[in-house]
Amino acid sequence: MNHISKLPDIETTIFTVMGNLSKKHKAINLSQGFPNFKSDQKLIDLVSKAMNSGYNQYAPMLGVRELREAIAEKFDKLYQTSYNPENEIVVTAGATQAIFTIISAFISPKDEVILFKPAYDCYEPAIELNGGKVIPIQLKYPDYQVDWDEVNKVFSEKTKMIVINTPQNPCGTVFSKEDMQQLEALTRDTNCIVLSDEVYEHMVFDGFTHQSACLFPDLKERTFITASFGKTFHNTGWKMGYCCGPKELMKEFIKVHQFNVYSVNTPMQMALAIYLQDENNYNYLSVFFQQKRDVFLEAIKDSRFNFTPSRATYFQVLNYKNISQEHDVGFAKRLVTEFGVASIPLSVFNTNNLDEKVLRFCFAKKEETLLKAAEILSTL
Ligand code: PMP
Ligand code: GLN
Repeated sequence: MNHISKLPDIETTIFTVMGNLSKKHKAINLSQGFPNFKSDQKLIDLVSKAMNSGYNQYAPMLGVRELREAIAEKFDKLYQTSYNPENEIVVTAGATQAIFTIISAFISPKDEVILFKPAYDCYEPAIELNGGKVIPIQLKYPDYQVDWDEVNKVFSEKTKMIVINTPQNPCGTVFSKEDMQQLEALTRDTNCIVLSDEVYEHMVFDGFTHQSACLFPDLKERTFITASFGKTFHNTGWKMGYCCGPKELMKEFIKVHQFNVYSVNTPMQMALAIYLQDENNYNYLSVFFQQKRDVFLEAIKDSRFNFTPSRATYFQVLNYKNISQEHDVGFAKRLVTEFGVASIPLSVFNTNNLDEKVLRFCFAKKEETLLKAAEILSTL
């Protein structure tokens, strides 16, 4: 059969490649971002209870009402801003589905989308599938700061969307209030939509704060925010998340959502609706993950890796230029096969696969796992 690939340059995602390699070599897996500790038993019990109580059929298309209300309440508590549970919040199958749906609903052939690189890997294929054109802005190790003059230069009437991700995967950086104000000024009075991927909103360290797009009134008006319960509640395998945005934009989102997935897992929504109401279930996360970052960094402080401590997320990038001049993909593979530690090479997220000799390590792991990995890394 003859067919033309719609994504000719796309190969298997690096998360699968490194995960499989890690399994094969029984390595310590700090590659794909997921915790190796359990989700709260209280939440698991709430899911079982919902299943046993008969919540096993299709949920309403936008999500269980109680959960949408709990999400709205969270925005009110954390950011003193409101989203209407009636038409501005949709529960999704992870942030991934929300992102795919936003891009599919708005990007048409030749539309330009500004993307900051290194970028998490699910945005670009979705843009390409819809015929859009990625306009990359490459950020540089070690501080990965945005030069807004550079963004200004590529911004035009063709810019249909800007994707931001703060806190940022893979770099572990956050946008400052000034960054958000620059974005707000740049897009004011334009038709540009902003996709703000905020899945790590609860994991911010060292006194930095999360500057959600919803805190900036003119920005909020044009922005979709995506979130992931998997990241927040240590159960990435449940694939639960949500998307919110202004009513007029959500109207288009919902048109795609209804045929893309229609609705998502009912018992988990029932459980999350209760669990999310208690802010103690997420407001410990910054302290919790900062402590893990510190354990990891303290244990590798005498190694030959260079690093700037992550300000957020559960990832730390390390530069190995003092250890090897190998390409980062080759070095990451050798780190698994010869030394037994799996990581993610950053070049796969960069423009033209720029290789700055940087690897990403996930520190959402038990202390013993982090110490074991650090011991190996310190021998290199
Ligand atoms: N965005 C970013 C920046 C991520 O790191 C991830 C991975 N969790 C996602 C989106 C996707 O989230 P989910 O697993 O909820 O689909
Ligand atoms: N978000 C996870 C990470 O960055 C990966 C999720 C996936 O494998 N698609 O590691």
